[in-house]
Amino acid sequence: MAARGAGQVSAAGLIGAIDIGGSKIEVGIADRKGNLLAQERFKTQSERGPEAVVSQAVAALKVLVGERNEKLVGIGVGCVGPLDLVAGVIKSPPNFPGWQHVPLKSMLEKGLDAPVLIENDANAAALAEFHFGAGQGASILVYVTVSTGVGGGIIVNGRLLHGVGGGAGEFGHQTIHPGGLPCGCGNCGCLEVYASGTAIVGLAKAAIANGSGRAIEKLCVAQGVPLHAGHVALAASAGDAAALTIWSGAIEALALGLGNVISTVAPDRLVIGGGVSLAGDLLLQPLREGLARHVRMVPIEQVAISITGFEGNAGLFGAVAVGLSVWGETAAAT
Ligand SMILES: [Zn+2]
Repeated sequence: MAARGAGQVSAAGLIGAIDIGGSKIEVGIADRKGNLLAQERFKTQSERGPEAVVSQAVAALKVLVGERNEKLVGIGVGCVGPLDLVAGVIKSPPNFPGWQHVPLKSMLEKGLDAPVLIENDANAAALAEFHFGAGQGASILVYVTVSTGVGGGIIVNGRLLHGVGGGAGEFGHQTIHPGGLPCGCGNCGCLEVYASGTAIVGLAKAAIANGSGRAIEKLCVAQGVPLHAGHVALAASAGDAAALTIWSGAIEALALGLGNVISTVAPDRLVIGGGVSLAGDLLLQPLREGLARHVRMVPIEQVAISITGFEGNAGLFGAVAVGLSVWGETAAAT
């Protein structure tokens, strides 16, 4: 991966990167090859309101830039949605109560005096995979994040597919069970309700409550961290019946949903990120088996499937990738 650690500034001008997540904000600067030079992170105190949060990000980025005698030439932002990508506006994210139609792009451009491009966080992560990660060289890259929710992005010949309303890649909201469980989006039976980390943890909590999830609970207590999907994966791999039912159900849902995506766009590369992907081979192996069952018209053996190598840092690398594209567009236009 190119974009990591301290690199050398190849030419004048810095790329700014801002990743705005539900719980934390990361800012960074990179050179024009995408090498991350410095970074900073702080908690997203969304209750302080958008002006205060954006000002904090601007100030943090200015400090990083101020330490180098160079100017920002483009700023990329990865942000939780929903967004109006054309206007650069955060619409009304469920994670940030009270934030309504925040003109993020113009606020940042005013504060930092450089062109800003905003992407939703999953699309930005897809760009990070394409430029710096497991998606390098792909003709058609599908990136899926399985985390609190399920989202993703599609990159065709190096370009992100946005689609109408920027809605491309919302894999989590395809119906996989007609008339199934209600989803936060208003539909019923969405993939996200069956395969997300939230769904897996919800089922595990229910199993613990009814006494069948003792093995999961034991792992969770032994590790001393809050219950997460990885505990279910581990208990399933040890043969626990309740964990196996939950884990294999989630993987089968994922295989159905991603099988539909593969049958539709026939990607040569599929990269899986998000917290649930930390299960590694415990996820990959049964997923491959499920995809082989569901995908019949696309040569599935020609789809390279892998787990992200970014772990916790995909967001900032994504913002760097977005920043590189805004700099590239600006440079081409002048
Ligand atoms: Zn949905």
